[in-house]
Amino acid sequence: MTLNEQLIALLGAGAVLTTEDDVAGFTEDWRGRYRGTAACVVQPSSTAQVAAVVRLCVEHGVPVLPQGGNTSLCGGAVPGTDGAAPVIVNLARMRRVRTVDAANNSMEVEAGCVLAAVQEAAAAQGRLYPISLGAEGSCQIGGTIATNAGGTGVLRYGNTRDNVLGLEVVLPDGTVWDGLYTLRKNNTGLDLKHLFIGAEGTMGIVTAATLKLHPLPTSHAIAWVAPRTPAAALQLLGLFQSACGASLSAFEMIDANQLRIVTEQLPSRRNPLSALHPWHVLIELSDTGPEDALQATLEQVLERAAQQDLLLNGVLATSGAQRAAMWEIRHSVSEANKKAGVGLTTDSAVPVSSVPAFIERATAAVHAIVPGLPIVIVAHLGDGNVHFIPFFTFAEWEAVPDPEAMAQRIRHSVNDVAHSLHGTFSAEHGVGRTLLNEMAHYKSPVELGLMRRMKQAIDPQNLFNPGRLVPDAPPPPAH
Ligand code: FAD
Repeated sequence: MTLNEQLIALLGAGAVLTTEDDVAGFTEDWRGRYRGTAACVVQPSSTAQVAAVVRLCVEHGVPVLPQGGNTSLCGGAVPGTDGAAPVIVNLARMRRVRTVDAANNSMEVEAGCVLAAVQEAAAAQGRLYPISLGAEGSCQIGGTIATNAGGTGVLRYGNTRDNVLGLEVVLPDGTVWDGLYTLRKNNTGLDLKHLFIGAEGTMGIVTAATLKLHPLPTSHAIAWVAPRTPAAALQLLGLFQSACGASLSAFEMIDANQLRIVTEQLPSRRNPLSALHPWHVLIELSDTGPEDALQATLEQVLERAAQQDLLLNGVLATSGAQRAAMWEIRHSVSEANKKAGVGLTTDSAVPVSSVPAFIERATAAVHAIVPGLPIVIVAHLGDGNVHFIPFFTFAEWEAVPDPEAMAQRIRHSVNDVAHSLHGTFSAEHGVGRTLLNEMAHYKSPVELGLMRRMKQAIDPQNLFNPGRLVPDAPPPPAH
């Protein structure tokens, strides 16, 4: 029997997609920038089925590509066109919330649960799962774990790595590791879950996870303000951190170009302020105490900021609808950018104090390549994570003679600036295939060597997501 026939015998014909039409939605990425070829797409519905699929693929020596919601922004979740076509293991059918233990502040979910469904299940028990991002209606918990996703809640709650207590993983040899711990403390050797968080499907398939929950905030206060400059925004951040401590739950900055694109491409989104200012910041305080107290703190800190001449303008949300509208702008940036043109998204992080210098120097670096090219900026400022996006219209991009080389050159110039400020080229989106060259360039040989040795130990046949995350070792020098 062929591999596809064996997979059909194992899972049933409805869970194995083989025709070009059926697999099309799984072989192209969210932005439509990568398209490849798959042997087939399988949609197992249990951990045992995933393990059996993996064993068959290993037997046939066929690569395995784990896939969640396919919202990766770095080409990580779709196949390429060279090398052996992989079996895409799509987790969408494994979407059960297994348990919510409110007293332990934890929940156990299958990997295919959509992030928004996880948030809702936690909220139904008065708890918060704090990872939140624009793709939360489609991305899966397994995908967020595999990419160690960040988003808008990192300032207060940390990234995905900080919110995972345990994992269940099908390893590349088809065995299942049940590491679904629900403990806060467990010093019994290496914490193995970290081998799989952020590994982008190169070390196995996450089939379930135990997640850390937090008290569900019941009161919120949100403001939308226009700081004079990024440096003023940083001073404002400092004022809030001193005054509010942990109740500061978001501090998100976008520039005028980004706000213009959102309001033009998605006309239901409106600028909360009467004018388009160079910089805009969404500030959220949230807590379990009374809302009036939060609102009063927000107003007091903003008054102090105004006295220090940090702000050009600002408005406080006075209803749930206004709060939602402000968040909608923030969460719509990727969708709007996709409609507006070709943004060469970068995912830099630098020490928070270096953000203004980063923006200034990266702008100069890009303008040295394409003078006057518009830059779109959307930043999780509280985390030092800046999506610095040199932006072309579709027509301009079509006129670029070698778009691949141009994209590499521009991204590299931005990443060089981040590196010079002790930053990184990938803060939250992962590496996928878009940033393989950057891995080879910026990571030390020692780090790359360690990663390659771990990969070799766990996936000796190199079948799991080959050609992603870790670049191949350079050939030994000729004698
Ligand atoms: P996929 O895209 O399907 O896969 C991503 C990678 O994980 C691939 O390498 C894949 O092989 C691997 N993988 C998937 N599932 C598994 C599994 N079960 N086991 C092992 N490996 C697996 N990211 C942020 O961090 N912050 C943001 O604010 C943010 N905003 C976004 C906004 C939009 C509109 C979009 C489209 C994306 C955004 N992202 C953001 C990117 C983010 O990485 C993804 O949305 C999400 O984390 C990936 O989840 P997914 O289920 O779609 O995974």
